[in-house]
Amino acid sequence: MKKLVIIGGGIAGLSAGIFAQKNGFDSVILEKHHTLGGECTGWDRQGYHIDGCIHWLVGTKKGTAIHDLWNTVGALDGVECFHPESFLSFEYDGVTVHFYRDLERLKSSWIELSPEDEEAIEGFYQTIKRLQTFEIPVGKPMDMMNIIEKVKFLLSMKDAGYVMQKYGKVSLKEYAKNFRHPALRETVAFFMPDGYSASSLFFALASFTKGQASIPYGGSKAMAMRMVERYLELGGTIEKSCEAMDLTIKENQVKNVICKNNKTFEADYIVAACDPKVLYQTLLKGKYPDKQFEQRYNDPKVYPLASNMYVSIGYEGTIEDIPRTLNFPVTPFEINAVQINRISINNYQYEPLFAPKGHTVFTCAINQFHCDYDAWKELYKNQGAYKSEKARIGEEILRSMEERFPEMKGKLKVLDVVSPMTYERYCNAYRGAFMAFLPTIGSKEMAHKGVIKGLDNLYLSGQWLQPPGGLPVALITGKDTVMRICKKEKKKFIAH
Ligand SMILES: Cc1cc2nc3c(=O)[nH]c(=O)nc-3n(C[C@H](O)[C@H](O)[C@H](O)COP(=O)(O)OP(=O)(O)OC[C@H]3O[C@@H](n4cnc5c(N)ncnc54)[C@H](O)[C@@H]3O)c2cc1C
Repeated sequence: MKKLVIIGGGIAGLSAGIFAQKNGFDSVILEKHHTLGGECTGWDRQGYHIDGCIHWLVGTKKGTAIHDLWNTVGALDGVECFHPESFLSFEYDGVTVHFYRDLERLKSSWIELSPEDEEAIEGFYQTIKRLQTFEIPVGKPMDMMNIIEKVKFLLSMKDAGYVMQKYGKVSLKEYAKNFRHPALRETVAFFMPDGYSASSLFFALASFTKGQASIPYGGSKAMAMRMVERYLELGGTIEKSCEAMDLTIKENQVKNVICKNNKTFEADYIVAACDPKVLYQTLLKGKYPDKQFEQRYNDPKVYPLASNMYVSIGYEGTIEDIPRTLNFPVTPFEINAVQINRISINNYQYEPLFAPKGHTVFTCAINQFHCDYDAWKELYKNQGAYKSEKARIGEEILRSMEERFPEMKGKLKVLDVVSPMTYERYCNAYRGAFMAFLPTIGSKEMAHKGVIKGLDNLYLSGQWLQPPGGLPVALITGKDTVMRICKKEKKKFIAH
């Protein structure tokens, strides 16, 4: 039996492991952390459960190929999903704009708010509706398709191609100018930071409005653990607290993976399902540079990376009428000299087991970009200052919530504050990024095969292969890597 060593036990590593076992390989997953799931995780604080990932999972619609793939790896098998009424509810100057899941309701509520925008709203609605035909391709990577499969694939991408062509190079801020009502304009412009392509709004809403981007009950950690269970059932091996640090390379072959805990693993194939910087820099010592990644790392303006401040708040009470994700203005405060004027909170009321009886947990994510990361990295050198800055931000969020919901005053507490350094520390995430390069109007698409030039038996897998990444990309690329290895071994790939 050929031996496959997988570095990283996130969703990509677990997916690769599950498909490796299904296809007759003897696999081991090496994970640096003491638990698996990578960025798809959750943790407990003071009797509350904090979900650290899934805000929307592409693949929740039964009967679709991506849903079947999640089922195959055990992630959604037998699990019901929570379908939020709106993707985001945005408060602006006394009105609330909802990105309703029911697209007809979205359209009528927007027209009711601003009849003079009817034409722009109709165009918005039609684009989302048209893009609902799009399904994320999961069958096989394009370079492995035969000509007939390629033609079928390209035809299936017709509507996505139309939207990319029309809106790929239009910034959200520019697109938002189509709306005259300030609340609609602000809501649309706010969906992603400045410079981001309007296409991202359409892709997200097309998935959401057709029920393809909901939230599995039990949350992120439970989903990752179901995949761990599936992997172990199939006979896979897991080595936790086992950080890969070095590779032994002879000619064009990687022979061994050497870990921090002095364990060495011999391999016929290696799948690096970790951050690509870890692969290219730590493991390959910069000897096998990759042009596609280098170009992007060196141009953070066109290829930005987002990390997060992730603040969790416990509420001693329940509240029925706060949407799942609500964005509202706040008395301004600063993070790294950037003024924060609005925050988004996620309400986990739909998960009663995430909080003690009669309580509710909220999370608030504030994106952190290039300069923020540099500031956090510097601050981290002084642990006292780092901790008190995190605590200050936690208090700012708590205060902002109390201002917006006076009835919560005195009943809120900060449970936890995560910074970009947390993602770096726990997951080796480059610059604390939680997704791959985000789509801006200047960026070029990247579809990396995961093949390392000059090495025959080492593959990269994970969300970074297909920016902007996310959980479905991690899932698909884990499977695709095993498909490539099967092809090399002249084995028929077993998909189920
Ligand atoms: C707050 C937040 C919200 C998110 N929301 C969503 C969402 O709503 N929808 C969505 O689709 N995606 C979301 N994401 C993104 C999603 O979590 C990631 O796309 C996905 O988990 C990436 O999976 P991965 O396996 O590619 O990488 P990772 O999760 O980064 O896994 C890599 C693994 O490798 C391990 N590792 C690294 N270096 C080594 C080494 N040297 N040796 C051994 N192990 C190593 C790490 O510890 C980690 O476990 C969110 C992420 C965050 C943080």
